[in-house]
Amino acid sequence: MVAYTPGEQPQGGGWVKLNTNENPYPPSPRALEAMRAALADEGALLRLYPSPDAAPLRQAAARLHGFDERHIVAGDGPDDPLNLLIRAYAGPGRSVGMLMPSYSLYPVLAAAQGAEVIRVPLMPDYSFEIETVARCGAAVFFLTNPNAPLGVAFKPEKVRALAESFPGLLVIDEAYAAFAETDCVELAKALPNVVVTRTLSKGHALAGLRAGYALCPPEVAEVLHRVRDSYNLDRLAQVAAAAALEDREWLAVTVSKICASRTMLSEELVRLGWKVNPSATNFLLATPVSAQCPASAATAAHAFDFLRQRKILVRLFPHHPLTANALRISIGTEVEMAQFVAAAKAWTKG
Ligand SMILES: *Cc1c(COP(=O)(O)O)cnc(C)c1O
Repeated sequence: MVAYTPGEQPQGGGWVKLNTNENPYPPSPRALEAMRAALADEGALLRLYPSPDAAPLRQAAARLHGFDERHIVAGDGPDDPLNLLIRAYAGPGRSVGMLMPSYSLYPVLAAAQGAEVIRVPLMPDYSFEIETVARCGAAVFFLTNPNAPLGVAFKPEKVRALAESFPGLLVIDEAYAAFAETDCVELAKALPNVVVTRTLSKGHALAGLRAGYALCPPEVAEVLHRVRDSYNLDRLAQVAAAAALEDREWLAVTVSKICASRTMLSEELVRLGWKVNPSATNFLLATPVSAQCPASAATAAHAFDFLRQRKILVRLFPHHPLTANALRISIGTEVEMAQFVAAAKAWTKG
């Protein structure tokens, strides 16, 4: 099997880091307070094992989503619930399905479990046919919604129609839900074959903490609790994640800043003649073009290098025709966006 390739984490300062969809703002102060409280008395609590099933985080998520706490499974990053789902439901003869392009981690997790991967290509307008996915034969299908790296969101009605006709388990990876207008949590409440996964990494600015959870139908939650490691989320992560979920105001303020920057960046790039995807995420997929350089993978690589020389880091997705000509640009602070726009202008004008 081949390992997952994470985005570059450059060492040393001075980078405008727009390559791994981290949140440019600090996390909720309440998350920090919760961790400080957990470290009181010179860390006395660290001697003790944490809640084995991450009760603080699960209770906060239950309140937030109006979901039964017993049917929420927490993990060390949402990659952990994704892994548990594949461990429990996929394997030899039980394949994993995904749209192409979407999150490149699923095939890595599938390979570790000896499961085949069924890749359903998205159409050039980024849509998929319900029938094609429903009949693809996968035991578990991962629907990244909003999609990464395209940035677009599928409508809940369409996802519901898919869930109702797909005979296997449909996992909706909502890593970017905080930046979208809709989500599919109601489907996980209503349908026996829908799981929704969430992360604290993107919307809540806690990528360094590693916390996520899955909202599951009762039978699935029961299975995931059986296959997960006990104590799969550490004490600090449990309380910090819970506090972050509870601080809805912090989330609303930072998300609205990010969405405003997203709109501004999109408008600037369109003005330069770049093609920009609509986005329901904290990144834009944009195709650079200039008078000398038509849209192509070589043009994208050229723009990437030009930006990198100016210590601006974005991401290329050269392996799929729907993304090969584009740059994925995470939304940063207003200052970072201004730096990016200045560099994009300089590249476009040659
Ligand atoms: C970032 C991301 C995740 C995982 O989040 P982590 O907190 O880094 O584990 C899951 N799915 C998608 C599509 C993502 O982009």
